[in-house]
Amino acid sequence: MSNTPLLDDARLTRNEANARSELIEIASYHLELDLRDAMDLERATYPVTTTLHFTSTTAGADTFLNYMGHTVESVVLNGESLDVDQVAGSARILLPGLAEQNTVVIRSQSYYSHSGEGLHRFVDPVDGQVYLYSQFEPADARRVYPNMEQPDLKAAFHVTMIGPDTWTLASNGVETDREQLTEGIAQVQFAPTKPTSTYLTTFLAGPYAQFADTWNGHEETGAAPVDLRIFTRQSLVEYVDVAELFDQTQRGLTWFHDQFQVAYPWGKYDQAFVPEYNLGAMENPGLVTFNEAYIFTSRATISQHTSRATTIMHEMCHMWFGNLVTMKWWDDLWLKESFADFFGSKAVADATNLPGAWQSFAHQRKAWAYLQDSYPTTHPIVADIVDLEAARQNFDGITYAKGAAVIKQLFHYVGEAAFLQACQTYFERFAFGTAELPDFLEILEEVSNRDMHEWSAAWLQTSGPATLHATVEPTGAVTIRQDSTDPLTGETVLRPHHIFVSIFTLDDNDQLVSSSESEVIIPTGETSVIVEDLTIPAEQPRVVLVNHHDQTYAQVAFDQASLEAVTTYPVIDPHSTAIATVWSTLWTMVRNATFSATSFVRAAAKLANSIDDVSMHDRVLQQAVAGIKEFAPEGQRKRLTKILSTALMDGLVQLEPGSDRQRSVARALAILSQDTVSLAAEITFLLAGDETSELSPGLQIDDEMKWLLLSRLASLERIDMIRLDDELTAAHTATNELYYRTAVAALPDQAHRTALWVQVYNGVDAEGTPLSNAHLTATALGLSASQPGFLAEHFQALLEGLMFIWESRSNNLATRTINGLFPMNHKPIKGGPAVQEKHPVVVSIDAWLAQYTDAPAALQRIVVERRTDIVNRLVAQATKF
Ligand SMILES: [Zn+2]
Repeated sequence: MSNTPLLDDARLTRNEANARSELIEIASYHLELDLRDAMDLERATYPVTTTLHFTSTTAGADTFLNYMGHTVESVVLNGESLDVDQVAGSARILLPGLAEQNTVVIRSQSYYSHSGEGLHRFVDPVDGQVYLYSQFEPADARRVYPNMEQPDLKAAFHVTMIGPDTWTLASNGVETDREQLTEGIAQVQFAPTKPTSTYLTTFLAGPYAQFADTWNGHEETGAAPVDLRIFTRQSLVEYVDVAELFDQTQRGLTWFHDQFQVAYPWGKYDQAFVPEYNLGAMENPGLVTFNEAYIFTSRATISQHTSRATTIMHEMCHMWFGNLVTMKWWDDLWLKESFADFFGSKAVADATNLPGAWQSFAHQRKAWAYLQDSYPTTHPIVADIVDLEAARQNFDGITYAKGAAVIKQLFHYVGEAAFLQACQTYFERFAFGTAELPDFLEILEEVSNRDMHEWSAAWLQTSGPATLHATVEPTGAVTIRQDSTDPLTGETVLRPHHIFVSIFTLDDNDQLVSSSESEVIIPTGETSVIVEDLTIPAEQPRVVLVNHHDQTYAQVAFDQASLEAVTTYPVIDPHSTAIATVWSTLWTMVRNATFSATSFVRAAAKLANSIDDVSMHDRVLQQAVAGIKEFAPEGQRKRLTKILSTALMDGLVQLEPGSDRQRSVARALAILSQDTVSLAAEITFLLAGDETSELSPGLQIDDEMKWLLLSRLASLERIDMIRLDDELTAAHTATNELYYRTAVAALPDQAHRTALWVQVYNGVDAEGTPLSNAHLTATALGLSASQPGFLAEHFQALLEGLMFIWESRSNNLATRTINGLFPMNHKPIKGGPAVQEKHPVVVSIDAWLAQYTDAPAALQRIVVERRTDIVNRLVAQATKF
């Protein structure tokens, strides 16, 4: 803390950032991170020396650096030592009286992180080795070194790292020099980066195992060959699919060069798989970091491989969208994320042999978007981001998935050639700089000769999805009508849609197949269009399916005949996007209480095994389980559990032994068995089984499956702590330790669970050591995984402590804590759906919201979204269908 409150202000506003970038231009950073003592866990900090060379447009002006380290030891500005007590606070360092050309040198101590933000330190339980990696987006580089933390102040970074000479030491640039500093300690220098934003800088240190290969370059663009490396912890080496990962990386690099026609600008391409990672991955130029869960230590389904490849391609797309051309400020975060999400799926579909990329896009990514867009907290894709805290909250389903869905729609709207030409021009025009939305739109107008302002106003500056209804007229014509009110403004927004409408009828095998299809364009501003050329059969069953190939972003409403047909007969579609549209529509209807969870579960039990696409099959089963536990009235749960578990047990035997879908069935059964004593015997049997079991032929009981089952048996008190301890001792890996924590927290001993609740609430374990991000979430998961009433009993204490939680830890840890401890499932009160807003739980949430109107917007947002989820579940349970 300091005398000047501003120096403790961790919020950086857009206005401050704009003022700073008008004043300052940064030539370079020289960073030295001394990690030689990182293995000494008693040490909480490490020394950092930071030198910035920068110019100021106004001599005599003041500016500041952002820094959230442990201590600032010295600040020397243009050769003069400043009084640290006067200029350094907990979040900023003041630089007064600038010259035109400035050099500032800061010596400081920064924290090792346990939250996955900043420089994270992890100890491998297998061998005691210490691993470090950094994660900075949007604004955590300032936890490692003092800087001007805003994306538009790009600079060349000259990095030096010091650490044990047996370690991998890596950063964005290639290693250019390595010398022995003292015995066992090396000092490594890296090539200076091209102009880069602070959030994209990165550091990796530890005894990481390393694999190497090369990408051969690209003749058309003159791209030189690129060295490829993969890093993982030593104890994961045996699980790395080296050939697959390099193959996808090589295919991706070639594909993106074909698309963008701009040579890869970042020298090398490293991919590090790191522990306790908060996200899927991060696109640091030249050194991408990935969640280590992508190194599959248990049997992974093909859809998990597809999903990993999609992440690899997403990050690769960022080498252009985001890294080469960066958004000026976080308002335009979508300018990189939606493109990366769209091209990530497209690259997997076009450049690899993996199936299901667009199907997952349709029913996973877009489901995330529709959910986020249904909350009162929704916002336009182009958001108004006033400060860094708001920026952090914006990494959501709107920015990523809705943005990507809208880009997919735009791709079809302007056509592939114009779209790719616009990308290329954008990279050439703004290379190594920053851009804003109008810059991209202007280029699109140039290349497509279309007015993009109307499109942008309709799609990017409004909220909420449209609902597309199909009505069959007595003449046999079909009318498509869009219903679209912006939930934030209350105004009608009539967006353009380019879609396919199909009729599905029964074939000889009693399956619904597409029998006629029509391409339809709903122009901007139009409510409805009539589709003339569809053949509607007089007899039923038949389905009118709007948005068949999932080209637009809109919810779909079924007419009664279509609804009956899709819940009775399997839909067969070679591209599976029709199946995605059907099931995601049904699930949305369950959430909105316009279709009963009971009917959904019955339909899923009957039809799920007809879905070939592995990830969609998996998802429908998971939704069926959630339908029972969260949305169905309590009185029906027992029967529904019986219906679904019977279908799942049948699936275990009938689906191909050892197949992905059989595995999904086993997972769903395990989750269904949570708190369900009637399934304890089945779970015990599965756990004891092996690949020769008659109940589950071919099913591998590997670590993931074993712990999933153990956790359920723990929640049912069929096994005890001794058993769990023994299982962990037998194979004490980092992943198993997380499973173990979940299983232990699921044991229904009240005193023990309450003690764990307190640990999560305070963010520290019984010894007072801070819980890491992963350990915190694993424990909270176990607490919610048995005894539905347990979290509710502690709800008042949680509400009273929300501000404490928010202020006592990083946003990420606070969000994990609150979401982990928030009780989501409650019994409705009497009086039907209309009175559920008066449910005592909802009333206490509303009281909190009324009392804490000045709570940080990010915290309020979490509470409002959980409230919406709770009300939706109560209303669904209370609705008579
Ligand atoms: Zn991204």
